[in-house]
Amino acid sequence: MSTLLPNFLAGRWQAGDGPGAPLFDPVSGAELARVSSAGLDLAAACEYARHEGGTALRALTYRERAGLLAAIADVLKANRDRYFDIALANSGTTHRDSAVDIDGAIFTLGQYARWGTELGDARWLPDGEAVPLAKDGSFRSQHVSVPVRGLALFINAFNFPAWGLWEKAAPALLSGVPVVAKPATATAWLAQAMVADVIAAGVLPPGALSIACGSARGLLDALQPFDVVSFTGSADTAAAIRAHDAVVRRSVRVNVEADSLNSALLLPDAPPGSPAFDLLIDEVVREMTVKSGQKCTAIRRIFVPAAHYADAGRAISARLAQITVGDPRNDAVHMGSLVSRAQWESVRAGIAQLRRHAEVLHDGEATPLVDADPSVSACIGPTLLGAPDASAGAVHEIEVFGPVATLLPYRDLDDATRQVRLGQGSLVTSIYTGDDALAARVALELADAHGRLHVVTPAVGATHSGHGNVMPMSLHGGPGRAGGGEELGGLRALQFYHRRTAIQGAGSVLDGLGAGGP
Ligand code: NAP
Repeated sequence: MSTLLPNFLAGRWQAGDGPGAPLFDPVSGAELARVSSAGLDLAAACEYARHEGGTALRALTYRERAGLLAAIADVLKANRDRYFDIALANSGTTHRDSAVDIDGAIFTLGQYARWGTELGDARWLPDGEAVPLAKDGSFRSQHVSVPVRGLALFINAFNFPAWGLWEKAAPALLSGVPVVAKPATATAWLAQAMVADVIAAGVLPPGALSIACGSARGLLDALQPFDVVSFTGSADTAAAIRAHDAVVRRSVRVNVEADSLNSALLLPDAPPGSPAFDLLIDEVVREMTVKSGQKCTAIRRIFVPAAHYADAGRAISARLAQITVGDPRNDAVHMGSLVSRAQWESVRAGIAQLRRHAEVLHDGEATPLVDADPSVSACIGPTLLGAPDASAGAVHEIEVFGPVATLLPYRDLDDATRQVRLGQGSLVTSIYTGDDALAARVALELADAHGRLHVVTPAVGATHSGHGNVMPMSLHGGPGRAGGGEELGGLRALQFYHRRTAIQGAGSVLDGLGAGGP
């Protein structure tokens, strides 16, 4: 049997009970490691994090905690090559796709280290100016944001074991809040290895960072009133977490990043052959194939004027036909594997469902695999579907978490924005046009249903950050179906780990609060 990866809880490495759940190489099917959180005293581990980690972190200033983030980034950079080996083995991703996860994590930590340094030697953040409550101004109210005195529990999805951990941990640790991470079982190895390196380097105070691999059972029971939960995963699990007794009774703050039927929208001014049309084709192909479409932000629906439906279908299909799929150890392979055979089955089932409502424009299931056995590997080629009958409701409802997207025609702009909104709230829609004023109007029209609108005009064709790339400077999250959460967006992310409080008193009392961050 393969190695059981230990958990780091209550300041020490601890093995869970039993044989544990296996982690596989999704290309060969070989077992790599096992994880178990069974039999661990999770309540004691959480109390240790809250007390030891929280006390030590809150004793530091924002600037000092920013130094911790920079030190974590240095540890990860020093061990970077090994992380690529783990991602190749356990996620089946090409080097380019692993970089999105691993280098994205290091970049995000570095950004928060820089922003945190700018907050200086403060331990709380002012929220606006003091305002008078008495007519003569003698009695006033100052809002302050102070770090919560609980822990931050992260329950993460399988697709970003590295970035998913550190994009949450960076703002939490910078805020002075200890972290307990629960990575998704299928790809827990990378997150566990990174935490092990950071712990071994001794850069964090005891209790600041813990990790429990395996089932989440018992973790939510251990939550206390000042804890916060940040969840990334499916809408069903999100609903279970929100309804959990401890969350409901103890008013635990929960942030949810769930599934999303993101869109790419070609505006009517951009016919085939125009720069904006070509930019849409490039971006759709990239989004469908990076990480085999296993990105919460990936384009799932492509909207084009009805007159351009056939041209767009042909252009995307021609590019997808050039994508080689299989074992990423072969340099000729553009697109590696899905994360597990279970995901492969789920993607195939999702395609079968969508095919009842759509035509197949490019059939990924017929793609020959390079160095991968179709009977054991989780590799699958990219599939483009088309739904010329725009009333096909299922394509606005079913998220196939793989290299799958559906092309949809629209009659006019009103019809286009109406259809985009059928996604019921998304992380991101990208807009392709040569008309700046029209782009701005459409972006505002769709803003309330999205976390992010990504406008691609020819002027930024070579410099835009990518439809699906989550940059730490910009908000990540979306309303409605996307979970209603908010992450990143620069220092905005710190608010989730702070409590806003109004302190009311005489000006001389408020002066005694001293200076918070800028
Ligand atoms: P999932 O099945 O909901 O699992 C997510 C996490 O929740 C895993 O760590 C899982 O642990 C844990 N979990 C499962 N059941 C739980 C329960 N009853 N209580 C507490 N935790 C529980 O989602 P997934 O299949 O890993 O991820 C794919 C989904 O995530 C897609 O729908 C995708 O859209 C979404 N996603 C969203 C974002 C975003 O930022 N919006 C990013 C990535 C993915 P185990 O692994 O041990 O089961």
